[in-house]
Amino acid sequence: MMTTYLDPETAEYRSLPYLPPLRRLAWVALALFCFSTAGTLLNLRSWRLDGVTILWPSNGLLLGMLLTTPRRQWPAYLAVGFGIDLGINMALTFALPSSSYLAFCNMLEAGLAAQLMYRTISPNPDLTQRKQFLSLLSYGVVLAPAVASLLAQLNRSGAQAMPMINAFRHWFAADALGIAVITPLYLSYTARDRFPGRSRLEIAGLLALLSAVAVAVFWQTRVPVLFLVLPVLLALGVRLRLVGSALGLLIVSIIGGFFTIAGYGPIALMRTNSITTRTVMLQFFVATSMLVLYVVEVVTAERERLQSNLVDSETRFRLLAEASNDIIVLSDLAGTRHYVSPAVRSMLGWEPEELLGHNYHQIVHPDDLDAMRSLITSCRSGNPAGTLIYRCFKKDGGFLWLEANIRLYRDSVTGAPSGFVNVVRDVSKRKATEDELNLQVRQAQDLAMVDGLTGIANRRHFDETIDREWKRTMRDGGELSLLMIDVDHFKPYNDLYGHIMGDECLRAIAETTQSVIHRATDLFARYGGEEFAVVLPSTDVYGAHMVAEQIRAAVERRGLSHPANPHGVVTVSVGCATQGLSFDSTPISLLKAADDALYRAKSYGRNRVEIAEPMRIEV
Ligand code: GH3
Ligand code: MG
Ligand code: MG
Repeated sequence: MMTTYLDPETAEYRSLPYLPPLRRLAWVALALFCFSTAGTLLNLRSWRLDGVTILWPSNGLLLGMLLTTPRRQWPAYLAVGFGIDLGINMALTFALPSSSYLAFCNMLEAGLAAQLMYRTISPNPDLTQRKQFLSLLSYGVVLAPAVASLLAQLNRSGAQAMPMINAFRHWFAADALGIAVITPLYLSYTARDRFPGRSRLEIAGLLALLSAVAVAVFWQTRVPVLFLVLPVLLALGVRLRLVGSALGLLIVSIIGGFFTIAGYGPIALMRTNSITTRTVMLQFFVATSMLVLYVVEVVTAERERLQSNLVDSETRFRLLAEASNDIIVLSDLAGTRHYVSPAVRSMLGWEPEELLGHNYHQIVHPDDLDAMRSLITSCRSGNPAGTLIYRCFKKDGGFLWLEANIRLYRDSVTGAPSGFVNVVRDVSKRKATEDELNLQVRQAQDLAMVDGLTGIANRRHFDETIDREWKRTMRDGGELSLLMIDVDHFKPYNDLYGHIMGDECLRAIAETTQSVIHRATDLFARYGGEEFAVVLPSTDVYGAHMVAEQIRAAVERRGLSHPANPHGVVTVSVGCATQGLSFDSTPISLLKAADDALYRAKSYGRNRVEIAEPMRIEV
């Protein structure tokens, strides 16, 4: 229990004082006094007849009080208990040393039991919990009274021998019964839910019935009908739970004890005159009944808790599943659905019931069936949760992109796989965004590779291609050819027709040239300004020259009027270079060779093809 508390007035944590409020201590003293007096009255006749104590209630009360009190206040409680016990003992005509020794033993009993039970019981007293019940039984009912009664026995051999007390016999059973009956009563008294759901009439009726039956059983000695008490006790236990059982046992102990000592009741039929034997028999009966009642109560309460946990978790699961925007599907190992959450209605238009009892073939797009099948197979063979983006048919006939998150779940008891849980999410928006993004990326890539004016490959594309093809040629052998094309007298063309017509002319030249280039591996690119280039992989000098000549001729044939050109039409000059294995160089030197050849073509009069050294062939 906490040693600090929240002060409601200052809203500050304060440490608990060692001394409880005096009013509380006075109340404790009064209660202990009443219980001790009642215990004395109950047992007085037995004592006088040299019998044993039937039931001693005040230690059970003190134990209950300690268990519901912070430990730092225990000394104060024990001191009050000691005082009351000392007084009672002295009133019973014991001398002071004996009285205080016995009071000490009593306090030791309550304190020891409380200390041993504190951790288990104090945080949340509920004796119907198996652990708490076992703690009460082993420490409170057996161990502490045994230790205390043994110590009390020692007193007998001391100087202050007590003629009336046969300590162990007197003490153990009586205190054990007192704790077994009174501690549960006190704990449920403080819990304030003594008889949940029972009317006062029923409570009073059941207690009256038990009292009547107990009186009827114990106040006559002709027929031994002790067993009649048990069903009434059980009824009390079933209806009024643990408190009812404890209260019932107290009533039976008091009434039974009273009449048994007086010589009445079924126990008086025993062939013995010993009051002690009779009392022990009664105690034995009460203890046996108590075990039966309490065990029944613990088992019942456990089952109820389990049931209410099940209901709670079922409620929680439904709440989560039904509030989720994702569809949650539970299916068996064959894939047959047995739960579909209501989100399916808004996502796909199906009613959950329409999908129950079917498997994924019902609504998964035919193109995605294989992927779904292999996902389920992989999950079934124990792989961790898998996801799949797939298409699912809506009720209206369209389909939706969804993402399935499938996980195998196992039986909580046997651990064997028992089905799949699938959390399905609408990813249509994400998918559309992705598709759009992919398109844009492709377009951007195209844009980066294409010349804006002519629509043929741009310089960058050319650079990459020549580089790649050069490496390939070095690796695989063969020959790589390059054509450099420059429009003749283009500056005057621009001057005459203007740049817009100039651009138009470049487009026309590009189109004409493209129509000549047939091989898929050839690349025709705009090199810059009014210069073009053609990469011709696996093409020897003869092939390259042929293509170059075809280009030159095609442009001339196109007949784009150009007054400043001696031919009267637009023409091009072409420089041609070829690189073979023997040609030990770089792409740059290939370019340079083609450029040199182009320069020569210009200087030899334009509208012609020149081939780079050293492989120059005559045209
Ligand atoms: P040459 O026969 O020696 O090649 O004479 P040329 O006038 O063509 O000379 P050069 O090759 O140096 O010509 C470059 C001219 O090409 C400069 C510019 O007017 C023109 N030009 C370059 N790029 C473009 C372009 O993108 N559009 C247009 N309209 N004209 C361009
Ligand atoms: Mg030029
Ligand atoms: Mg030019």
